[in-house]
Amino acid sequence: MSGWVRIVGLGPGDDGMITPEAQATLAEASDLVGYHPYVARIPDCPGQVKHASDNRVELDRARHALSLARGGAHVAVVSSGDPGVFAMAAAVFEAMEGDPATLDLDIQVVPGITAMLAAAARAGAPLGHDFCAINLSDNLKPWAVIERRLRLAAEADFAMAFYNPRSKSRPEGFARTLDILNEACGDDRPVIFARAVSTPDEEILTVPLTEARPEMADMRTVVLVGSSTTRRVGRFVYTPRSAE
Ligand code: SAH
Repeated sequence: MSGWVRIVGLGPGDDGMITPEAQATLAEASDLVGYHPYVARIPDCPGQVKHASDNRVELDRARHALSLARGGAHVAVVSSGDPGVFAMAAAVFEAMEGDPATLDLDIQVVPGITAMLAAAARAGAPLGHDFCAINLSDNLKPWAVIERRLRLAAEADFAMAFYNPRSKSRPEGFARTLDILNEACGDDRPVIFARAVSTPDEEILTVPLTEARPEMADMRTVVLVGSSTTRRVGRFVYTPRSAE
């Protein structure tokens, strides 16, 4: 059989947020490759082989998927949310760059609902006007780059979505992020802490920026920060579409 790789987004957690295209792709795969909690989300299927791995081996995992496909396997590489957002799709293309023999493989990215969009939907429409997404993990980039992007995003008056806000090994970065925003935004604005969206552990908390605290976020949280025009209406938060 001629092999393929599909890099599939599983959405934020709930099965109802997996697209029909992603479901169909998973059903056709002979092999599933991914970080073990994501692979575990997919029910066992006779004849389908699961290759679960640790979180920090993305490039090895991508190379493994490509080599399985070169051997004829139908490989689904799974990510939570969308595979193109701080996830496996870029890792697969990076692995291809290092291995020209993979360039003519049949490869497709199957999109998913990314955490910030699932979170925004719960809150209302906080990303209703221009926004940006920043990964606050400094595992793969220096903290100085993150800090510069935060300051420029505040200056440009984007609403912002923060992925990987805070982990046990990086407790300081998010505290620093809140300090920078309080300094750079020059006003108060809604901050939404959306934790484990669309899972049984879901918690949504909205507070003014001045009351946001580092411990309100963990690695299962995506944090949305409004622009200067973002406001509350009843129990919702939205950013009007006509902002200057
Ligand atoms: N590819 C994923 C993001 C991977 S980075 C996506 O598109 O959603 C991992 C980060 O995503 C977490 O630290 C958290 O910030 C966010 N995240 C993933 N699933 C989430 C969920 N169900 N609820 C809230 N945040 C989530």
